[in-house]
Amino acid sequence: MEAAAAPLVRREELVAQTRIGDRQAFVTLYEPDFDGVFDLVLRTMRDREVAAAVLRAALEKAWNVFREQGATYDVSGWLYAHAREAALSFPAKRRPAARDREALDYTQVECKRLSDPSCGFDKDLMELVWDTAVALDREDYSLLDLHVRRDLSVETIAEHLGLPADQIKVRLSRLCDSVNDSVGATLLATRARHNCAGLDAELSGFPSNVRRTVRRHVQECSHCRETKERFVPATEVLGSFALMTSPPGLREQTAHAFLRIKPARRSSRRRGSVLLRARLLPYR
Ligand SMILES: [Zn+2]
Repeated sequence: MEAAAAPLVRREELVAQTRIGDRQAFVTLYEPDFDGVFDLVLRTMRDREVAAAVLRAALEKAWNVFREQGATYDVSGWLYAHAREAALSFPAKRRPAARDREALDYTQVECKRLSDPSCGFDKDLMELVWDTAVALDREDYSLLDLHVRRDLSVETIAEHLGLPADQIKVRLSRLCDSVNDSVGATLLATRARHNCAGLDAELSGFPSNVRRTVRRHVQECSHCRETKERFVPATEVLGSFALMTSPPGLREQTAHAFLRIKPARRSSRRRGSVLLRARLLPYR
């Protein structure tokens, strides 16, 4: 998911210009990551209009922090962290709309990112992985996304979120294990149960919780355990999903809205007013 970053010298110029209040320089600085940040926010919020508002709020917040605290070397990771924070602070009053699920294809794959590119044609697997990711809450999903889709290391995430690396490492490890185990158990139950008489018999009893039954069975059955380990990890599939395309004109309109904001006198008032303004600005 890497964006084409500006050459180092050019980037340093942009950083220096941004620091003295050049909004156009900041637009140029965030430009390579615009699609990636939109993808992160949209996949976290799963609502295009909300994602556009969150994106604007995140960029404005990042701008203010940049001006107050100075540049960061890893601008991309820093932007993603701000985008995640903006998404998590947005009111959770709306759930993903069905029309969005139909209109947007969250499961298109960049096959080259898969260790076995042929898996990219397995639409049922893609849907299963995405449905499992969607079942996570926004905080967990976005943390997992930073790691498996933005390729940010534990240390980088910890630094940008201001949390201990050990804490992030444990959370990510649990998240990855949970998602991989959930998808693997479902695949075992739906695609490989007939390879093991024991598992087939247990599932033939229509257990109330199929995944729990499979997990318990796998602990005792090395054959099924090996089968499960041969499935492509769900986190690898999640990392291979193509970037969601931002709505036509959003990039230009976001930049235009950002450039026309006048400097506020006090940062404490500016933060509130900017967030509100960012939410209200239409992007169509
Ligand atoms: Zn078995």
